[in-house]
Amino acid sequence: MKNIIFIALPAAGKGTQSKMLVDKYDFIHISTGDLLRNAINANTELSLKIAETINKGNLVPDEIINNLLVNKLKEIKNKRFILDGYPRNLSQAHYLEKILADNYWVINLKIDYQQAIDRIINRRICPKCNRVYNLSINALKPKKDNICDICQHELVARKDDNLEVVKKRIANTIENIQELLDYYQKNGKLKTINGNDDYNKIFYKIEKLLEE
Ligand SMILES: [Zn+2]
Repeated sequence: MKNIIFIALPAAGKGTQSKMLVDKYDFIHISTGDLLRNAINANTELSLKIAETINKGNLVPDEIINNLLVNKLKEIKNKRFILDGYPRNLSQAHYLEKILADNYWVINLKIDYQQAIDRIINRRICPKCNRVYNLSINALKPKKDNICDICQHELVARKDDNLEVVKKRIANTIENIQELLDYYQKNGKLKTINGNDDYNKIFYKIEKLLEE
């Protein structure tokens, strides 16, 4: 069974599919965001450097992220993993290819610009139990309007999910991921799955892919 790299717009469903893969097949979910957060919390010299870079709104250099990834892969030994947020550019993609050789699939959960925006601005979270809902996706709507199914608390939108910020974030991501998609298209590793399908159907397609 191969490792999986997700490349998709925010809210395309990476989180849901990752969780299903972790639960059913014991994949380890590795996200760049988590790697950086852990590195910051480790309170080393590197922590400070990373925190400063992020606070200034700059991107953490590839070299640092590559090292964090390699250390994580050593830690999980031979377990299968899902990469989320890595690679973020061609340089990282080349680096990854040296590590993984042929042993991965790249899955693009495809939704378009407008769909990504609709999904993000319709995302609601329960402040009490942290469960995430989505008013634009039938399977993820709360049973009662704006009320958490589990604890009956009123749902809220996330602060950074306002329209202007979201639009900018999506436009940037589209630009960034296109060269990666082109690259993986050329090397034959890219599999595109319609992100508008029901999440069980998407999962079924991913399972089929894992059998190859
Ligand atoms: Zn709740």
